[in-house]
Amino acid sequence: QLRNAGEPEFHQAAREVLESLGRVITKHPEYSEEALIERICEPERQIIFRVPWIDDSGQVRINRGFRVQFNSALGPYKGGIRFHPSVNIGIIKFLGFEQTFKNALTGLPIGGGKGGSDFNPRGRSDREIMRFCQSFMIELHRHIGEYIDVPAGDIGVGGREVGYMFGMYKRLTNRYEAGVLTGKGLSFGGSRARKEATGFGTVYFTQRMLETKGSGLDGKRCVVSGSGNVAIYAIEKIQKFGGKVVACSDSDGYVVDDAGIDLNIIKEIKEIRRGRIAEYVELKGEGCRYIKGGSIWDVPCEVALPCATQNELSADDAKTLIKNGIIVVAEGANMPCKPEAVRLFQEANIMFAPGKAANAGGVATSALEMQQNASRDSWTFEKTEDRLAEIMHNIHDACAQTAEEYDAPGDYVIGANIAGFVRVAEAMRAMGVI
Ligand code: NDP
Repeated sequence: QLRNAGEPEFHQAAREVLESLGRVITKHPEYSEEALIERICEPERQIIFRVPWIDDSGQVRINRGFRVQFNSALGPYKGGIRFHPSVNIGIIKFLGFEQTFKNALTGLPIGGGKGGSDFNPRGRSDREIMRFCQSFMIELHRHIGEYIDVPAGDIGVGGREVGYMFGMYKRLTNRYEAGVLTGKGLSFGGSRARKEATGFGTVYFTQRMLETKGSGLDGKRCVVSGSGNVAIYAIEKIQKFGGKVVACSDSDGYVVDDAGIDLNIIKEIKEIRRGRIAEYVELKGEGCRYIKGGSIWDVPCEVALPCATQNELSADDAKTLIKNGIIVVAEGANMPCKPEAVRLFQEANIMFAPGKAANAGGVATSALEMQQNASRDSWTFEKTEDRLAEIMHNIHDACAQTAEEYDAPGDYVIGANIAGFVRVAEAMRAMGVI
């Protein structure tokens, strides 16, 4: 507690994993002898740095940059960069911790890390974004590399920002090291289906959970929170599976469209205008409504995919969802459900998929991007998506089987935590106390 004072999100993430691990220690006492749990909870390295930049009016601004290199037992550190005013070291540590287990679950050779800044991109011009990304990379470039640490996007960081950061990295190092960042544009080493991967993957996972009960997304009423990268492609894949998404949101409010959200309008607002979800009503016309503030989880649905941010779904929201007949909840975002909400879902026998399993498709496809870069290859969309679907099915099945093996059938939280932990712990044990 004292060592990580003032980091409530990190405590929350660590507690959730540690609660699952008692069962592992009973089976494998050797893990506790070697202090594996204590070592896994301590990041290998944390970097905090100043990011000075100049805004369009000529004023000098200062932000704080972070990179937490959490665990490299399985491969180079790997995890996104987040630009949001709420970013602090505790947030980046919780994300890096989660990332370590998530990356292990993919079965691919990647360690865990995360980075970001308290920079707020909202309302900033394209030039300001570019100058900020360049200044951020002037420091970060010393700490990353295709065999060291491979960042990607997250909240507030998409293809545009990755492009600016890659350009600065290339200039500073005089190396065309394509594998140093993922989520790149297709014209300079990006992978097809990377943009879609997290949202698509979450929906593949959800569909697989429903299939275990002889059901599927077809005909189901769904709510997806957020309207960013993860949410947009989750909506797209739900619609492909025949589900109907009736609501989505941003941090100002949410929109309800009982006829089904028109995805082209969402893409127009978010990917082209970089606007607000409130604009949906004006573009769509009749039959939909915008609610400022409030909770999107008040909208009745059978499938809920929280795809915005941490702790966005409270115990009260969980009660409302249960009352309204929810069947399955899968976390597209990282830790969007508060612990009490997760407990309520599990007590009510609602299928629940934690983010480290359900949203692992993004980082898995990033690892496929690294693979394409290393072999100087570029796969088709279909080939990449087929690999993504296969990986998500494998993660689902590994979580379900591990839960059974540890006497918790149907508990995807325990399954994901244990399956991820064992893979990292085995590699760490083999490498000795380092
Ligand atoms: P984006 O920046 O593309 O979108 C984030 C969305 O969430 C926006 O609609 C944003 O609204 C909303 N949001 C952000 N913060 C808040 C907040 N405090 N309250 C309410 N809404 C908020 O990010 P992504 O879609 O990439 O990321 C969403 C989540 O998914 C995050 O938890 C991220 O860590 C996780 N994730 C992302 C992956 C990826 O590949 N991108 C991979 C795995 C997980 P607004 O515009 O108003 O801020």
